Amino acid sequence: MEIGEVPTPAPGPGQVQVRVTAAALNHIDLWLRQGLPALHVPLPHVSGGDVCGVVSALGAGVRSMAGAAEGDRVLLNPGISCGRCVACLDGRDNFCPDYQMLGEQTWGGLAEYVVVPAANLVPAPRGRIALDDAQLASIPIAFITAWQMLVDRARIQQGETVLVLAAGSGVGTASIQIAKLYGARVIATASTDEKLAAARALGADETINHASADIVAEVKRLTARRGADIVVDHVGATTFGKSVVACAKGGRIVVCGATAGYEPVLNLRHVFWRQLSILGSTLASKARLPALLELFAAGRLRSVVDRVQPLEDIGEAHRRLESRATFGKLVLSV
Ligand SMILES: [Zn+2]
Repeated sequence: MEIGEVPTPAPGPGQVQVRVTAAALNHIDLWLRQGLPALHVPLPHVSGGDVCGVVSALGAGVRSMAGAAEGDRVLLNPGISCGRCVACLDGRDNFCPDYQMLGEQTWGGLAEYVVVPAANLVPAPRGRIALDDAQLASIPIAFITAWQMLVDRARIQQGETVLVLAAGSGVGTASIQIAKLYGARVIATASTDEKLAAARALGADETINHASADIVAEVKRLTARRGADIVVDHVGATTFGKSVVACAKGGRIVVCGATAGYEPVLNLRHVFWRQLSILGSTLASKARLPALLELFAAGRLRSVVDRVQPLEDIGEAHRRLESRATFGKLVLSV
């Protein structure tokens, strides 16, 4: 991975060029660097799916829109879809057969300029709470992912208990806040007491240090042996077996990724006897991000930025994300 010069991408018909001001890192950026067996990435490649910037040029056929005209500050929706299949027309564009992720199958925003379909522009919010570019860049992937997991897939209900694994991750910090917004009780796990204190500051009711305590035993203790109604698990191989046993009868486990590996040991006896649901989830519909930004502008959700570094420090940022030392998002300023 290196900082280099590539031609400035020009917007084609229906596309928009954005001058990037801040872009957040995600685990997908680490996996892309390491190589994914199912994805052939022609080099050079520019990764980065969480982007804040300023509209710098409109491609042919793109009309100016309020909040998304040249010179306007925008966020980018990370999911790119065809716009005309049944799923897209139904507002479920993340079920599009041609679905792609910004910075994965396309060049992303860890650069000075990025080009996206005009449909991916989202005006920066103007509300009671002002958010800077780094705070905005930290929002899209983590929050739309957590929202679809808890609200659309697990159908979270008031009073339920939600177990959030790896509370310091982007999805973890978002899940804690969204579960609290829905009136749930949140049990969060992390590997250090500092992270657990930060999770409580975000609203977690109970915390478990998974380096020193057994997650399942602690969840049972904290729920009078009942277990959690929903488990947010994006760790995978090392945690999934525990997620199954930590569930209450009728519980739902929602999975949006597997940072520790894709192939856990799964004891099906627990799945049928407890009548569990295992739910997969990938990003969310494009309509979700503007709705979420309203909640940020109203002060009901807040972005969690671990640190902001110049783009030139991207190597160090990758190492820090890989070491799992972060609480919240790593943002590169451009
Ligand atoms: Zn489509």
